[in-house]
Amino acid sequence: MLEKLIGESKVLERAIAGEELGMQDGIELMKDDNLYMIGAVADATRQKLVGNKVTFTASSYLNYTNVCAASCQICAFYRKENDNDAYTLTPEQIEGRVSAAKMMGATEMHIVGGFHPKLSLDYYESMMKIIKKNHPELKIKAFTAAEIFFFAKLTKNSVKEVLSRLKNSGLDSLPGGGAELFHTEIREKIARGKCSGQEWLDTMEQAHNLGIKSNATMLYGHIEKPEHIVDHLLKIRNLQKKTGGFLTLIPLKFSLENTELEQKSMLTQECSSIYDLKVIALSRLMLSGFLNNISVYWVADGKKLAQVALSHGGNDLVGTAFSEEVYRAAGKPTNSSLLDLVNLVKEIKREPAQRDTFFNILRTF
Ligand code: SF4
Repeated sequence: MLEKLIGESKVLERAIAGEELGMQDGIELMKDDNLYMIGAVADATRQKLVGNKVTFTASSYLNYTNVCAASCQICAFYRKENDNDAYTLTPEQIEGRVSAAKMMGATEMHIVGGFHPKLSLDYYESMMKIIKKNHPELKIKAFTAAEIFFFAKLTKNSVKEVLSRLKNSGLDSLPGGGAELFHTEIREKIARGKCSGQEWLDTMEQAHNLGIKSNATMLYGHIEKPEHIVDHLLKIRNLQKKTGGFLTLIPLKFSLENTELEQKSMLTQECSSIYDLKVIALSRLMLSGFLNNISVYWVADGKKLAQVALSHGGNDLVGTAFSEEVYRAAGKPTNSSLLDLVNLVKEIKREPAQRDTFFNILRTF
């Protein structure tokens, strides 16, 4: 059936055969207008690799500070120290928010923040310790590789030392943020002040080597070209071959409102839904056999498009995202109960399953 659909596409033939796709293959798929065909192959690949379950966590987001030494052109969230609405939570305030999240059913805390120029490593260690002491069963997924790299530079410790100290204080895993797009041509135009793509990858490699698993992300839909997307996916795949430490890839649709890219008219509209679906399908096909969880971030896509993305290669919905603030600052309202996600999955005749941070299934519905 699929063979008939794909017509002349040698790349899709090879994808169906489970072969590893390269740079030119990826670019060809990104430029191919037949989304129906690419989506169908990505969907069949998803079904073969991970079946019909759609997973998600009960996850709560916490942004401990919006003060940031960087000023990324893609960011609507950061503030400078003296801004009226700048904030930094104390470890005790953070613990209070974690208690509230637990009462809402969260099994995971997703904790990230700006690059605060004055916080010491003690602050982050105290944050981990107070959460773990009071909520030992909660998984703490905290600090992007870009934050870890920043902490190391600021405190004059090695990345390994920072990761080890945080792990010993209670850190369970790393979120995938800060990856944006690795390619230098793009990265310097969208992520001013953040570590380089290679530094992000090296930080992740060290985390994986210390037994700290992580997610990976890819920010698309701004000023990139197809080759930048493919380059990013290949770099994730190469590191995954080495460490096996990534749990999922989360393609993140760029949200324009209130960002410098919008203010400077470098971009006037967000990418199309067709492009969103192409990126999900390509992610599935390029990572197939190496990283088999491809997450659809409904916070950025919206729930209806998320349903379609789940039939173009996606098998995970990330989580409930209670209290998400970064996308909210860029004009995307968030929050969803577990039941909302269960219904979203049932409507497309797939099997909803709540998972933990490490993709172990906790319950089905
Ligand atoms: S994206 Fe992160 S590092 Fe960049 S300005 Fe925003 S908070 Fe700071």
